[in-house]
Amino acid sequence: MPTVKNWQLGRDMAYLYDAQFPSRQFAFVFNINRCIACQSCTMACKSTWTFSKGQEHMWWANVETKPYGGYPKWWDAKILEKLEEANPGGQVWGGKASDGRVGPYGTFEGQTIFEAAQRTLTPDSARVLGYLPTDEEWNSPNIYEDNPVGKRGVRNKLDETGEQLPVHNTWFFYLARICNHCSYPACLAACPRKAIYKRPEDGIVLLDQAECRGYRKCVEACPYKKSMYRGNTRTSEKCIACFPRVEGTDPETGGEPMETRCMSACIGQIRMQGLVKVAEDGSWAEDRQNPLYFLVHVAKVALPLYPQFGTQPNGYYIPPRWVARPYLRQMFGPGVDRAIENCANPSRELLAVLQLFRRSNRIIYRYEIQEGPKVYEGSLRGRKVELYNDTVIAFGKTGREIFRTTVEEPIHVRSNAHANSI
Ligand code: SF4
Ligand code: SF4
Ligand code: SF4
Repeated sequence: MPTVKNWQLGRDMAYLYDAQFPSRQFAFVFNINRCIACQSCTMACKSTWTFSKGQEHMWWANVETKPYGGYPKWWDAKILEKLEEANPGGQVWGGKASDGRVGPYGTFEGQTIFEAAQRTLTPDSARVLGYLPTDEEWNSPNIYEDNPVGKRGVRNKLDETGEQLPVHNTWFFYLARICNHCSYPACLAACPRKAIYKRPEDGIVLLDQAECRGYRKCVEACPYKKSMYRGNTRTSEKCIACFPRVEGTDPETGGEPMETRCMSACIGQIRMQGLVKVAEDGSWAEDRQNPLYFLVHVAKVALPLYPQFGTQPNGYYIPPRWVARPYLRQMFGPGVDRAIENCANPSRELLAVLQLFRRSNRIIYRYEIQEGPKVYEGSLRGRKVELYNDTVIAFGKTGREIFRTTVEEPIHVRSNAHANSI
């Protein structure tokens, strides 16, 4: 197998094809601390792309309650278990976190799904370590919603101690997921028909229905289980990243790149999607004023989902602050502690950039901050805190301003005449 560079793992790794990178890459950041599991994202995708006969079980966008929920059921526990069986005790991170854009979480010393396949599978199926979920595992997209880890509550009685940060004893959180449009897609590597391809202009991974013969190798290989089989057409389908919107060819967009349906519908304002510049080695090219670049590489608050699988996913998550750290480290790698620390004590710039989420459905290419007055001074958990009402300005592809907003949300007081109206 050829060798490619995986910046998230801080090392080279085996992949079926030589590396080829798009000029820009579809990427997104989800702030888990804000998700309320309203499923507006889920339904926005469903009602746009997967409402037809044969697509009943297709939830390209889904939101599951961790740790017990998952769609299909147990998808992550199952692939983690397979990797552990292939490399017992060896799925660990080492080395030092780098300050640069390669190896920011240290070095992954274990086996990816591509490397473990070479060790454990028979030659004709040796491309990717995976499994095919059962029909039963695909039938409950929202099972275990709101089921926490920890002690059981007593009906009609308040908890005597409650919970305190930094870590709650009783916890769950909502994990919103779509296809990660990976830089090294496992679905693409596994397809014997070469029906799956990655677009050079935006890194979106698409599945050509005319070429697909329904072997389900992509369904088996995708560690995130985001390629799905459709029985009545005997082909597989997957998230298309709402590419007409991202391209600006959808009539709705007026020619300007627009965020996807699931991003635009997000009530909790947890989602931001963009197109990041890619360097020659596949890492992100420096683009200091791009908000996604800032969140991933400067503030270092957003982390890839299960980077150890090795697909270099392009979905990033700001981890939930109240959750047991070993669980989060398994899910997002060793960058978790730094991400939570930086998020709990945000810099002036981070506080401003967090205001950019969901003020518009246009893709933000660049932001600027205009400094505003100090509006608060105090202390929080023993630290001095100062808040400034800065203005953050978002610019689109052509350099035109899309919107501006402030750190402090404006307060509107109703007049007495309208005090009881909406
Ligand atoms: S998440 Fe799965 S389906 Fe999507 S690009 Fe990656 S491997 Fe393919
Ligand atoms: S990007 Fe578009 S196709 Fe993909 S999950 Fe979101 S709404 Fe569905
Ligand atoms: S729309 Fe946003 S807040 Fe609601 S479930 Fe989806 S990601 Fe969470």
